[in-house]
Amino acid sequence: MQSNPESRQDDPYDTVFIRRSFRSLVRWGIVILSVINLLHLSLFLSYGSRWWAFSALLILVQAPLYLLVINRRSFPVFIGGLALLILAFGIQLSVYCTQFGARAGFHYLLFAMTPLVAFSGRIRIWHKVVLCVLLMLQMLALEQRTAPDPDISAQALECLRLLNLATAFSVISLFVMRHFMVVAGMNSKLEHMAAYDPLTGMINRRRMAEVAADELDHSFEKHSALSMILADIDHFKLINDRYGHQFGDQALLHVSQTIMQIARDGDSCCRWGGEEFLIMLPVTDLQGARQLAERIRVEVSRNALCLNGHDVGLTLTLGVVELQPHEGLDSAIARADEALYAGKNNGRNQVMLGQPAAQ
Ligand code: GH3
Ligand code: MG
Ligand code: MG
Repeated sequence: MQSNPESRQDDPYDTVFIRRSFRSLVRWGIVILSVINLLHLSLFLSYGSRWWAFSALLILVQAPLYLLVINRRSFPVFIGGLALLILAFGIQLSVYCTQFGARAGFHYLLFAMTPLVAFSGRIRIWHKVVLCVLLMLQMLALEQRTAPDPDISAQALECLRLLNLATAFSVISLFVMRHFMVVAGMNSKLEHMAAYDPLTGMINRRRMAEVAADELDHSFEKHSALSMILADIDHFKLINDRYGHQFGDQALLHVSQTIMQIARDGDSCCRWGGEEFLIMLPVTDLQGARQLAERIRVEVSRNALCLNGHDVGLTLTLGVVELQPHEGLDSAIARADEALYAGKNNGRNQVMLGQPAAQ
């Protein structure tokens, strides 16, 4: 079986996006860890505790590990650096808790490890659950630690406790908010991709089906007219064959822009298929739709596309229908399609009105 180096196949929790987002999370985690160490260092210094030297040592020891993780060249180096960092962090917490007891609240910082476990793509779900339970047990164990001679004033201990509690709270909040923003951003990108055609920027067939269903309901409720134009570029295969697929794409863009310029606010323009466009015209009767279709046809046929100094003319054939009371979308499209093909058979470059639906 072929393996994908970027992600586990068919695993929705281990995608390229999740791996990238995890690495970015780790980078942020490293920055935050450095800030925490600096805060401890300055607090020890301000209370005249010799433990500032331990904080400084931690920063010095962790610095090369940070570099390993941030400038990772391969996954094993990244994950090895990360494992060493986590180990160093664990030792740091254990030493602090032994020295100052649970009152200093260093064990609260273990909370900050949960996003790292939860947002990883490689760790399987039930492994994550086990790791979170282990983190919790570790925190509960550290909660029991007492230090008879903490070598620091009671006021300094209280300050440390508040600092550690505030840090744990802030880190969790930051990670959750950041994750929400990443997921929301990604979701809106996906929604856009699912609704729009990347070449023309028009809505796609899937989105048009939703828009059309809403328009049908609306016109039924308000007893207002609703019309539809189905447009198809003439001899488009020939254009592709003669001038190349890339030029064909330019032609599609050109026609779609012309349609969108002529369509009014409230009209919905869709790339229905390869070189077919569907335009939905609310509050428009058959004659109004025919006039708009005619304007589009004339505009497209008047504006040739230029290729290497030569003008390449494009024409459209358009089928126009007005939806009849209680008529469904499929029936209206079928009538527009029939009209379109009648136009093709009649010599192309024309607007054809659809036949009324059989009652
Ligand atoms: P007719 O006048 O009868 O509509 O003829 P036609 O050649 O336009 O119709 P046909 O259905 O035979 O060919 C449509 C062509 O559209 C074939 C396909 O390669 C091309 N096409 C579909 N999608 C795209 C696209 O995204 N880009 C390009 N360049 N061509 C496309
Ligand atoms: Mg076609
Ligand atoms: Mg065509």
